[in-house]
Amino acid sequence: MIEMRLKKGREKSLLRKHLWIFSGAVEDFSGEPEYGETVRVTDCNGNFLAYAACSPKSQLIGRIWSFDENLQPGRELFAQRLREAAEFRRFLQLDAPDGGCRLVNSEADGLPGLVVDRFGEFLVMQISSAGVERFRDEFISLLMEMTGAKGIYERSDLPVRAKEGLPERTGLAAGEQPPNPIIIKENDMRFAIDVRHGQKSGFYFDQRESRQAVAKYAKDRTVLNCFSYTGGFGIAAIKAGAKFVTNVDSSAPAQRQANHNFEMNKIKPEQFENITGDVFEILRQYVAEKRKFDMVILDPPKFVDSQKNLLKGCRAYQDIARLGFQLLNPGGLLFNFSCSGLMTPELLQKITADAAIEADKDGTIVEKLHQSPDHNIPLSTPETFYLKGFITRIK
Ligand code: SAH
Repeated sequence: MIEMRLKKGREKSLLRKHLWIFSGAVEDFSGEPEYGETVRVTDCNGNFLAYAACSPKSQLIGRIWSFDENLQPGRELFAQRLREAAEFRRFLQLDAPDGGCRLVNSEADGLPGLVVDRFGEFLVMQISSAGVERFRDEFISLLMEMTGAKGIYERSDLPVRAKEGLPERTGLAAGEQPPNPIIIKENDMRFAIDVRHGQKSGFYFDQRESRQAVAKYAKDRTVLNCFSYTGGFGIAAIKAGAKFVTNVDSSAPAQRQANHNFEMNKIKPEQFENITGDVFEILRQYVAEKRKFDMVILDPPKFVDSQKNLLKGCRAYQDIARLGFQLLNPGGLLFNFSCSGLMTPELLQKITADAAIEADKDGTIVEKLHQSPDHNIPLSTPETFYLKGFITRIK
């Protein structure tokens, strides 16, 4: 096995079980690893530290498989990790057969590059790394065997795969074709999910607890749900007694699916509207029209994808938060989220505060929100904390 030797002192983070190795930490290799090849990571004196999947040309050059010298990537390690992942979701009480959750969360579950979402009796699998791709067949057979799933649908249509020399792949990987849509239950809601065409694996499980937070404060309010996708927040609001929901999203297929979801949850047509359009434009239009809401939700896509774009992204987050504040009635609530890993909660809080000043509003933070716990964050690798949000109540 090829060795990846780290520079003197750079073993420290691995001794604290950090799961990533950056290229700047590497002294040399004993050979030329290919994409996804398993390497033996050592300190500068050649002492074993970990087995890692190597991405030789990437800044994130190594992702840890195992810190145990006796446990190399293979069936035994994978079965252990999948068992632990399933046990954790049982602990979270996310194992209801008609529900769903993120079952495997990549490195956070010790399987860097493998994401598996469970939708009832079916699994949707996404492979983003060459490290996992090498063991694809093994993972598919283990997942079928260990979960008793009826089928696995693959959604490896991820642009990041190109960086590792992998083609995009979608289709049935094992078992039966999942129905279209798959219906899952979450609390008192039902969602219809198109796992073949939906964004990511089809549904945002990472906002489960935030949907509950919306429900908690929604009663008797009018709600503007921006970046609404298939309507999750809007349905949570109406079910909890909101007066009316306006969903805004630029994707027509998402809006069609949202319509279906509202109908399936027996929400009357006079309780919601689905607007297909650009949130930035629509917010400006509503401000110009002096429209008011009691709750505004902003759950945009990632505006910051690199350190280089941080400032530009911050400006976009601040713009929508300012417009959101302007649209609120007195006592109104703003829910604003960021799913950019590079955006810290402190920075988002500052942006929110700056936006309120720009909108000439004074507010209080009611709650801080974060990704659902099945999108787990290992203590050793806090960079896996990506989704954060604030509920702010204005005077
Ligand atoms: N809130 C959703 C998830 C949002 S994902 C949920 O809880 O399920 C981000 C959504 O923003 C996507 O549906 C995408 O279609 C939409 N989107 C991206 N840019 C947009 C824009 N400029 N205007 C409106 N919608 C946009």
